[in-house]
Formats: sequence, structure tokens, C-alpha cells
Amino acid sequence: MRVDVVTIFPDYLAPLGLSLVGKARQAGLLDIRIHDLRDWAEDRHRTVDDTPAGGGPGMVMRPDVWGAALDAVLADDGAPAVLLVPTPAGEQFSQRLAHDLAATLEAGSRLVVACGRYEGIDSRVAEHYASVPGVAVREVSIGDYVLGGGEVAALVVIEAVARLLPGVIGNAESLVEESHGLAGLLEGPVYTRPLAWRGLEVPAVLRSGDHARIARWRRGRALDRTVERRPDMLGRLGPGQLDRADRAVLAQHGLLVTPEGLRPLRIRPAGPDDAAALAEVAAATFALACPPGTEPADIEAFVRDHLSPEAFAVHLADPGCAILLAEPGTTWSGDLAGSAGTTASDGGDGTGSSGPALGYTLARIPLHPDDAPGDPDVDAVVPQRPVAELSKCYVRSEHHGSGLADALLAAAHADLAGRTVDGVPLAAVWLGTNRGNRRARRFYARAGYRVVGARRFRVGAVLHHDVVMVRPLGTVDAAGR
Ligand code: SAM
Repeated sequence: MRVDVVTIFPDYLAPLGLSLVGKARQAGLLDIRIHDLRDWAEDRHRTVDDTPAGGGPGMVMRPDVWGAALDAVLADDGAPAVLLVPTPAGEQFSQRLAHDLAATLEAGSRLVVACGRYEGIDSRVAEHYASVPGVAVREVSIGDYVLGGGEVAALVVIEAVARLLPGVIGNAESLVEESHGLAGLLEGPVYTRPLAWRGLEVPAVLRSGDHARIARWRRGRALDRTVERRPDMLGRLGPGQLDRADRAVLAQHGLLVTPEGLRPLRIRPAGPDDAAALAEVAAATFALACPPGTEPADIEAFVRDHLSPEAFAVHLADPGCAILLAEPGTTWSGDLAGSAGTTASDGGDGTGSSGPALGYTLARIPLHPDDAPGDPDVDAVVPQRPVAELSKCYVRSEHHGSGLADALLAAAHADLAGRTVDGVPLAAVWLGTNRGNRRARRFYARAGYRVVGARRFRVGAVLHHDVVMVRPLGTVDAAGR
């Protein structure tokens, strides 16, 4: 694969003999040729520039000298060519363009880079070669700043393209996960030995040897970093590229993946004004948790008696009740400019809601630190006190699999982990969930719950069988993970 660079400072391109690109040249994968533009100047002084037409400061590079040089370089083997003209006024160079150029080289085209200096190259040069058959002109900027010449841009482009060519990088897999790679994310943090350095440890998961967990962790941290540093990149990810775990990570950043794009999500403690919203979402979600065969009349009666606005008003006033509400937000703290279909931020504080509640959690907190948990199995199996009960964790069915439930549960854990009973931190949380509801059981197991027992209770005529699950609270980090 052939690359030509035309410059008035051939020595500037010496780094192309080093490292990855240098090795690729030695291995015969890349044929890079550097040409001195002045070889095509016609006067004694080898002049390549002249004063700007119309006046003004500086000098402009002459089209006749460039034309002679480029004609000669392009004619060399007659292959189709991309003529790359670095200029701060060009299209932004990106990993995507690097991939395009690498593919063009692989398909047999050449790359010719025309390095300008002074005020740049007479504009007719790009215009002319754009009309030459077999030549595609790309005017490319490597960033919003002005360099003294195109040589550094040539080095940047050639290095970025070369490492994408087959055989140049030993392990092509690294091209997928790296920043701006095929995954479309920034890469997360990376570590090596020593495992402990100046009081900083390599995260334990990376030492676990569990490859699936490590891959999942890396993907999660890549998403975290992209959300925090380059949220504009998120909009280029299609919903199909985001699996359930990805959606959970995004939901924890306050972003809900919907078919229309990313939407701001808000999870907050419910207040006295939320009784009606809670009753509405509770009524819409309760039936989902009932085992098959539950009579609609029994469900209706339960909703009427226990999930009414009045019932929630009582819960909201109860110091032994902790309720979190998930709702569509009106703003998002980051800048999602450029991401598809995202509600524009109004620069507010993210406190508004723009629709009905999406889900809620309700936890019961003991009033005294040594109160026994309200379940005999938990009482027998979990020695620590105090223990909270997660009584409800419901999400509207259209958001199942969206990561919303994971985010809501994580928020509930973080909320509970931050609470104390008479100054004693909550040690654990337990819940009962329908024995036959495998989806719910898997969901809670993923969130760190383990089964410790069973219980039975009646709704109308139907006897319900629950498994009882427990999760310690001490292991929750700030994000509730
Ligand atoms: N007068 C030009 C303008 O304002 O657009 C700037 C000319 S610059 C001083 C000289 C040369 O440096 C350009 O012709 C180009 O080859 C190169 N150059 C400068 N900044 C660049 C950038 N951000 N990306 C690519 N090439 C750049």
C-alpha cells in the first residue's frame, strides 16, 4: 500500500521511519515516499510561494509548482488516488475517516498528502484535482487550531490509518474496544502491574480471572466514561447496540434508552405531593407481579385497598417507609448535543418531570436497630441488624429490559445504604418475590440477592408462594452497584 507525502520540509516526516509505521514499512506492508516540493520549482531560488492575490499578509503556495509536483507523483503508477490536503478549514479528521482511508488503501488506491505552509496552497489546486478522473480530493483538518504547516497533520493521518491496515497491529481485537473504535465508545480505564501502587489498587474484578465479568465491567466503564466525557457520542449508538446491562448503566446516569432515542430519566425520593402519581403507577404495575391465575377482581380489590392515593399518602407520612419514584426528566446534566432524538437540555437543574411516573420502590425501615426482620427465615439466617424490607420494586411493562428497574433498584440500595436506625447503618435488605416469576428472581440475583427461604400468603382465594431473598448493604458503592 502506497502513501506519498509532498512537503517543503522532507525531514519533518522522519518519524515515519519509527515505531509501528516504521516497522510496517520495513515489513513491506507500507510503501511511504517523501517528496520535496522544491524539486518542481523552476527558478534558481526554488521558489514555491508568492504574495496573496488581492493583497494581505503572508504568502500563498503557487499552483503551478504544486501542479507539476502532483502530476508527477500521481502519474507514477496510474492507480486511483486520494489527494489529502491538510487545512484547518477542512472536514474534521476522525477515526471513521481513518477507517475509510484504510479501506481505500486496501482496495488498491494510493494516498497522496499535500502539505501546505504559509497561508496555504492556492485554492485552485484542490479544485483542479477534484475534476481529475481517478483522484478524490479530501481537505481535512486535524482539529480546531492552526499549525504552521501540513506535516504534523500528515503524520497524524498516516499513523491513524496505518494502524488500521491488516498486519500492522498484532492484535486486531484491540481496534474494537479502543476509543472511537467499532464499539463507538471511549475506552474505559486500563491497568497493569503492580497491582497496588501508591495506595491505588487495580479493581478487583480485573484480578478475578472471570472473563465474562471482566468484559462486562470494561463495557460498563467505557459507557460511564463516554457518558461523562463525550455524551455527544451516545447518539450515534443505535438501540440495537445497547444490551440490557448497557441500558442499566445508562439508566444509572439518568438516561433511558427508548425507540425514539435517549431520554432523560430522573429517580428521586417521593414527597407528599406524589401520592396520586404513585397510586397510578402502582395500579398499572401491580398485576405484572401477580402469579398466573390471580383473579382480576382480587387484583382490583388489592389495588383499591392498598395502592390508592390515600394508602400512599399514609406511606409517605410514615418514617418507616422509604419510597423512590422514577419519572421522565425534562433535562439531563450532560450535553447530548448531536445525539439522536434527545430532549434538549434547558440548562436547568434536572428537577422537572415531563410525564407520568415510570416505576417506584417502597422499602420498610425498622424503627429500632434491633427489631427483628418481618420474616422468620431472614431472622434465622441473617445475624446482622437492622434489616430493611424491599416491599415494592415495580416498573411499567414497556420499560422492562430498559435498565430502568436496575437503576431504580440500585438507587434504592444506595438510599438504604445511606440510612441509619438510631445511628446504626442498615446492614441488609430482604424481599419476597413470587416463586414462579423466574424473571424477577434472576433480576434480584443479578443485583446481589440470594435466596434464604420461602413464605406463603393469600390474595383472595389464591395462595401465593414467594421465595425470600437477602442482600447485604455494606457493599453498595455510590452508584448503588
Ligand atoms: N491560512 C490558513 C487558514 O486560516 O485556514 C492557515 C494556513 S496554516 C498557517 C498553514 C498550513 O498548515 C495549512 O495549509 C495546512 O497544511 C496546515 N494546517 C494548519 N492547521 C491545520 C489543521 N488544524 N489541520 C490540518 N492542517 C493544518
